[in-house]
Amino acid sequence: PTSLVWLRNDLRLSDNPALLAAAADGGRIVALYIHETDEGVRAPGGAARWWLNQSLESLGQALGQKCILLIVRCGTAAEVLDKAIAEEGVQSVHWNRRYAPGERDVDQQIKSDLRERGLSVASHIGNMLAEPWTIATGQGKPYSVFSPFWKTLRDFRIEQPLPAPRKLGEALTARGYDRDYGAPKWSRKFEGQWAIGEAAAQKALHDFLDERLEDYPEGRDFPGRDMTSRLSPHLRFGEITARQVWYATQARMEAEPEVRPHAEKFLSELAWRDFSYHQLYHRRDIATVPMQEKYEGMRWHSDAEAEAAWQQGRTGIPIVDAGMRELWQTGYMHNRVRMLAASLLTKNLLIDWRHGERWFWDCLVDGDVANNPASWQWVAGCGLDAAPYFRIFNPITQGERFDAAGDYVRKWVPELKDLPDKWVHDPSSAPDSVLQEAGVSIGKTYPRPLVDLKTSRQRALDRQGEL
Ligand code: FAD
Repeated sequence: PTSLVWLRNDLRLSDNPALLAAAADGGRIVALYIHETDEGVRAPGGAARWWLNQSLESLGQALGQKCILLIVRCGTAAEVLDKAIAEEGVQSVHWNRRYAPGERDVDQQIKSDLRERGLSVASHIGNMLAEPWTIATGQGKPYSVFSPFWKTLRDFRIEQPLPAPRKLGEALTARGYDRDYGAPKWSRKFEGQWAIGEAAAQKALHDFLDERLEDYPEGRDFPGRDMTSRLSPHLRFGEITARQVWYATQARMEAEPEVRPHAEKFLSELAWRDFSYHQLYHRRDIATVPMQEKYEGMRWHSDAEAEAAWQQGRTGIPIVDAGMRELWQTGYMHNRVRMLAASLLTKNLLIDWRHGERWFWDCLVDGDVANNPASWQWVAGCGLDAAPYFRIFNPITQGERFDAAGDYVRKWVPELKDLPDKWVHDPSSAPDSVLQEAGVSIGKTYPRPLVDLKTSRQRALDRQGEL
């Protein structure tokens, strides 16, 4: 018998329930990845496609070692699956679940069609600590606030990670690649900046636990220090599971009780990812529909010039420009700066959060179907458990606090590198003599701020008051 594993966001061998179940079927296994053109499935952004191509390459080799052929095709899921099933003589199909409403529709339809035709179809737990329907409030409702969600998740019996399947035969050299997923030219600059694939994900986790866990709670907010795990793109593509991260961290806590509080903080951040998926699962479309209904009536500004300046890191607000340039150069942005950049766009510039969400979606290697829109809605104030609208970040004081020596700004906005620390976050207020000495000319070598932070803050508050 031949079993087919339909891989989606689960590009790994270990802790892969679908793969292990296919191995238990006892026959030949083929793995299939589809660059889906189905309407309900959000196509990955440009930077994520760059990552995906390499992750598939790495997975294809690892599967080949186990005697499993990886086939990569493009088209609608149903058509591609039908063709592969016929060509390979498949009797049973396995996949790990995904959680966006549009994705679930596709999967459900396929499941019932295949079963009708006599195939055996099984779906398995996806890349979650707890699947979205397994956690609910006392009234059986979805959570809308993170802390009680986290409290419940903390006590949930999270499934133990599974081993990789055993080798099924001689290593394969054949490849079933139709084509890779066209990644944009601009993504080539990411080459050499990231280690991609399952082995790299495991290494990133263990390097983090060995070297940075202890400093995580305090260090995670400082963009100039490299204190976070950088696991997000690996989690996004399922090169590693949240369960593997959870249990590896737990093991560390047991071995070294003194790291317990640090590890708890890390686990609670990891839990935000599950919380985003909780929202994704229970809502219609979090990438386009505000979770708080009244925000449907929000009057956003349309200002193509300001939006382009924001995208290109030319807002005149150094920490935001640094973040937007880090994003463009690396496909990643530090979490604190993501918040500041999103806040400047949606509050000070009053530009619709959906525009920012789409830009991030295209530029982030970790652009995630749940985390990205949920975080944008959170910052914009229309999300669940959103920061109160009146808490509008001041990116200058935030910069002074979290990048006091200006290392992060100097790295990404080199035209400001010779400014003294005191002015590096607010160059337009610096005395002429200071600017001259640092070779900075406001309006020429570095832009004037797009908006006055104080008046634009008030404008945002007034606009909110209209709702
Ligand atoms: P760590 O601090 O090491 O955290 C470990 C893991 O926990 C992360 O990889 C992530 O999976 C999860 N996590 C941590 N913080 C958060 C959070 N606030 N919300 C949800 N999950 C979290 N994250 C994405 O994975 N994809 C996105 O597309 C994305 N878009 C974002 C957009 C905005 C506007 C904001 C404010 C945040 C966004 N985030 C997104 C959340 C967060 O910024 C990243 O997960 C984090 O910066 C990734 O770096 P790390 O892996 O080193 O994080």
